[in-house]
Amino acid sequence: MAGNKTMSKVNPFEMAQAQLKDCAKILNLDQSVVDILMQPQRQIQVSIPVKMDDGSTKVFQGFRVQHNNALGPYKGGIRFHPEETIDTVRALSMWMTWKTSVLGLPLGGGKGGVICNPKTMSQGELERLSRGYIRALWKNLGPDTDVPAPDVYTNGQIMAWMMDEYSTIQGKNQFGLLTGKPLVIGGSLGRGDATAKGGMYTLREAAKELKLNLKGSKVAILGFGNAGSFAATLAQEMFGSKIVAVTDSKGGIYDENGLDVKAVFEHKKQTKSVTGYKGLKTLTNEEVLALPVDVIFAAAPDEGAINEKVAPTVKAKVICELANGPTTPEADAILFKNGVHVIPDFLCNAGGVTVSYYEMVQNMYMHYWTLDDVYAKLDEAMTKSYHAVYDAAQKYKVNMRQGAYIVAVSRVVEGMKARGWV
Ligand code: GLU
Repeated sequence: MAGNKTMSKVNPFEMAQAQLKDCAKILNLDQSVVDILMQPQRQIQVSIPVKMDDGSTKVFQGFRVQHNNALGPYKGGIRFHPEETIDTVRALSMWMTWKTSVLGLPLGGGKGGVICNPKTMSQGELERLSRGYIRALWKNLGPDTDVPAPDVYTNGQIMAWMMDEYSTIQGKNQFGLLTGKPLVIGGSLGRGDATAKGGMYTLREAAKELKLNLKGSKVAILGFGNAGSFAATLAQEMFGSKIVAVTDSKGGIYDENGLDVKAVFEHKKQTKSVTGYKGLKTLTNEEVLALPVDVIFAAAPDEGAINEKVAPTVKAKVICELANGPTTPEADAILFKNGVHVIPDFLCNAGGVTVSYYEMVQNMYMHYWTLDDVYAKLDEAMTKSYHAVYDAAQKYKVNMRQGAYIVAVSRVVEGMKARGWV
């Protein structure tokens, strides 16, 4: 978390590789298979010149990393982030391969990024950057090649500009280029809160397995962005949980009697942070992680925030990883030993890409589903995947992340074998 630099900074790609190595050992995978999966299939870096509003031209660095397409077109978001690095994009592209696979989607994994600070850019500058990204990369993208989506600091408007630029280059409408589009131009109902909703379905299933009563359960939410704020509302609505703590990049707040989520949201809108709400004391990430709560939603884009230093202090029974990569491998081992049930990122937050897949299907059929249809299908897919992972974890006597790796990697390996790659 940007305002909380005390956390040890991990290299997310090394973390992703360590997780894969661990899984390779459990599954006793051939070295050739590991060699393929350890590195992305393709990594592209482009320079994007953008005319700024003051008349100057600024050159931005953009990336697209395509990890694996054994099971279908590469799929994954594009981040606009001031601290973007190729290693972050590499890690995230690998996690996308596991994410689409664990959900049984006919898709591979990829990720994109641009080093920029969208908060300091005008709409016009953002539009020119988005169109520039597509002009630089269009040959490597496409509805059956590589299908991007929104991610950190990108949104439906940015997707719309990108889709329009690609359609102009192709000379025809290409709604299927990417997902997370506005509804009026081929978006899917339910895409907005799909990540949080999917996470809720996995939490509901976990609660059944753990015999945990979610009604009145105390919940802390790390990160109050898109997924985090939807999670706060949904946990209240779906389970009657009490949101006792929330954080953002400036720090966290805690009220053991429960926070008024709507009021906190308003406060954040006005002051740009949850801190300072009703004069509550500002807590650090570490302090929030150690609170006496039942469930933690890790929804902040802060890879490695749950590390070996804070893991022993966690009192929650379940951690739902709505963000990618919040827990280090060392912390994973500690949490498992302490009986904390971690619903791993690429399972817990797979609701977003699952509804993205539904959006692709709807674009291809030119026929659009109702919200109830989307939620019903998402619920079924998340529930089934949660139990496949839980069963694998039980069978191999490993933690949930290792269980998820077993399910996801096995499927990709089966695909690679069937195609004759190994
Ligand atoms: N950016 C989201 C993720 O990391 C969604 C990706 C997608 O919809 O393709 O899962």
